[in-house]
Amino acid sequence: MAGVAEGHVIGVDLGGTKLLAGAVGADLAVVHRTNRPVYGLDQQELVQMIADAVEEICTAVDAPIAAVGFGIPCTFDLRTGIAVQAAHLPFRDIAFGDVMAERLALPVVVDNDANCAVLCEARAGAGRGASEVVMLTLGTGIGGGLVLRGEVYRGWIGAGAEMGHMVVDADGRPCVGNCPNRGCLESVASGSALVREASLAVARRPDTPLGHALEAGRELTGPMITELANEGDPVARGAIEVVGRALGVGLANLANIFNPQILVIGGGVSAAGELLLEPAREVMLERALAPNKDAVRVVTAEFGAEAGMIGAALLAREAAAGRDCGVRVSLPGRAAA
Ligand SMILES: [Zn+2]
Repeated sequence: MAGVAEGHVIGVDLGGTKLLAGAVGADLAVVHRTNRPVYGLDQQELVQMIADAVEEICTAVDAPIAAVGFGIPCTFDLRTGIAVQAAHLPFRDIAFGDVMAERLALPVVVDNDANCAVLCEARAGAGRGASEVVMLTLGTGIGGGLVLRGEVYRGWIGAGAEMGHMVVDADGRPCVGNCPNRGCLESVASGSALVREASLAVARRPDTPLGHALEAGRELTGPMITELANEGDPVARGAIEVVGRALGVGLANLANIFNPQILVIGGGVSAAGELLLEPAREVMLERALAPNKDAVRVVTAEFGAEAGMIGAALLAREAAAGRDCGVRVSLPGRAAA
């Protein structure tokens, strides 16, 4: 397969609310994209929708596709290639890579979505040149990705780096989805937490641009809160600051544990930029140990919402070139290589 690795691969990033997929060239340029909602689908419908999205791209590209890489928000068992548990999707104990390789008749690699995102940022984005990169993706939940000594670190059987589920408040609110814990970082610093925070705050201050927007029928979403915050709305800004300060507690833990060079914040919520990062840095500096806290830079992801998709494509390219990409390669027509 070494020759075809120079052509296109497809990267697919599956989030809690939408799928983003694209054909990615050797220069990381995305030549065709598709974007589909995933909400309300069961496991079988989700598999069908994902296969349809990849086939749409194959048709649009009209050139050989070397491999397909998937980033999905699940914990994995790399010994078996099984996607064991997803907090926000109806995936449970599915041999996702093998299923997709058969459906698409292409080599397939699968990794956790945040592992894909950190791979992209460490190789080509905000963590370029750094050997120790920690990334949090703030979306429906919070994904975590680690690059240690230049390689993605996945834990013993591939289920590690779930940093969104580190506890920052032992008596905090129950975590969402299938997580049995409470007070997880995800419950206070995700996109869902931002919407909840803004919703509580606007109920107290309805006579604000955010309050008026809701009255006019607009839906309260993360992007809408960021938009109004950028226009100066006090409720939206306050909600982002609360989430930023909660994020800072998590960053202090990560700075202490990993002593990273770069902490990258990605996912939809990172569109709030410095409105989010300033309070997060402030809290991290109050709480983390020296010299870790002074040796780390906290930055937003350079590839924004596309980091997961491009990281999945990078994995696919490694697999297509026959290099060890750290995850199992599923091939059509037989179980796995
Ligand atoms: Zn949790």
